[in-house]
Amino acid sequence: MASSTISSNSTTFIKKDVGLSAFSSSPSSFSVPKTKRRNSRKIVSVMAPQQSPRSPSTTGSVKTAMTMTEKILARASQKPQLSPGENVWVDVDILMTHDVCGPGSFGIFKKEFGQNAKVWDREKIVIIPDHYIFTNDERANRNVDILRDFCTEQNIKYFYDIKDLGNFKVNPDYKGVCHVALAQEGHCRPGEVLLGTDSHTCTAGAFGQFATGIGNTDAGFVLGTGKILLKVPPTLRFVMDGEMPDYLLAKDLILQIIGEISVSGATYKSMEFVGSTVESLTMEERMTLCNMVVEAGGKNGVVPADSTTHKYLEDKTDVPYEPVYSDEQARFLSEYRFDVSKLEPLVAKPHSPDNRALARECKDVKIDRVYIGSCTGGKTEDFLAAAKVFHASGKKVKVPTFLVPATQKVWMDVYSLPVPGCGGKTCSQIFEEAGCDTPASPSCGACLGGPRDTYARMNEPQVCVSTTNRNFPGRMGHKEGQIYLASPYTAAASALTGFVTDPREFLQ
Ligand code: SF4
Repeated sequence: MASSTISSNSTTFIKKDVGLSAFSSSPSSFSVPKTKRRNSRKIVSVMAPQQSPRSPSTTGSVKTAMTMTEKILARASQKPQLSPGENVWVDVDILMTHDVCGPGSFGIFKKEFGQNAKVWDREKIVIIPDHYIFTNDERANRNVDILRDFCTEQNIKYFYDIKDLGNFKVNPDYKGVCHVALAQEGHCRPGEVLLGTDSHTCTAGAFGQFATGIGNTDAGFVLGTGKILLKVPPTLRFVMDGEMPDYLLAKDLILQIIGEISVSGATYKSMEFVGSTVESLTMEERMTLCNMVVEAGGKNGVVPADSTTHKYLEDKTDVPYEPVYSDEQARFLSEYRFDVSKLEPLVAKPHSPDNRALARECKDVKIDRVYIGSCTGGKTEDFLAAAKVFHASGKKVKVPTFLVPATQKVWMDVYSLPVPGCGGKTCSQIFEEAGCDTPASPSCGACLGGPRDTYARMNEPQVCVSTTNRNFPGRMGHKEGQIYLASPYTAAASALTGFVTDPREFLQ
């Protein structure tokens, strides 16, 4: 056991490693997640709390304590008990796929199960065209046609189709970015197992469920059987306490964590987020937190369901669900503690999500554009946050500022919801006054890059501040582009100055 208190980036961070005998037979084999800190830090040793030994087996009603993730997987595999490292066949509650991976997954399903095979459950498959939608690229358009043909053939209940690419508004079924649509349409439910052919499927962990991305081969198998073989991951626990300063958003919290543990710090591990700050977050902010666990290599992220979760789901699903919670004595591989009140606005500099820096440290970085959108930063609250900064400044943007609502509902919110504290103005009014581009049709937009005619794609080697989740070379379209990942507050502030900018310049 070991524990340390670390001060970095003006925040207090405590990491505690605990033994996890079921996962590793030798405590000395635990590797401390590699950190990549750019600032000096002070390490003070403190005593780790005593851990109770793990019981060797389950007898009668006496069970070994489990984490949320272990409990969800135990229930889904009809096992009374599970430990990290075990391989189990898990029943899947929801399988999601989209226009990029759907056609390949369907092809594998047909090859392995037969041309006339039927999917395991037409009501548990959710198909969401979202990636390459508003483009003249024939192959991209054909992928959406393949989704449609498969859904017709299999009588899939949840297919969020788009037929008229010229005007998304005449397609009432069309939603937009899959991870945001899954939540808005009530497919994310506590205690369940949700898989998707997209690495950011982990977003749904915000609802207290096990959610992770899978490949096309696994998806083809799930389509035929409703099952998947999974190795139970050990869990890292992130305890975030303290009052969230009003210039921070969940994006800052997850950039802080990834900067701390690195892009491989949670490889094949569950990341559980708890603490008073997490409890105070809205569902959309919890989604931002879980969205980026895969950027640390995490298998899944999870937030315990509470009254905020239940309220969000009230009018979205009538499917009964049963949340689970980590036992008090559950064993975590490591525990990290953050005093959120001491955090500052952050960015991840090119070309890695763990290349953390304070926004104010990058104030000399001149930028060419700002992009607000994606499953990470294109939700309603992300646009409300950006609008708040524009309104507070009363200024116009200095660089092209692209806005891509994640879904059709977000787009409508941008045009109809009054921004709190802004005299009844909507986001769209504030964006127009600030000189931003008109909000685009909802989709993944240029987050991944997309065909060359994709709106806001970076077709030149520019410097961009973006609310998206990845800043690898080639992301957003150009391999020499420079992407600074940031919160919507920081992105909006940067648009107003033409440099990477700490939002406190306008919010205080
Ligand atoms: S918005 Fe970006 S990160 Fe999210 S699903 Fe689409 S392409 Fe992937």
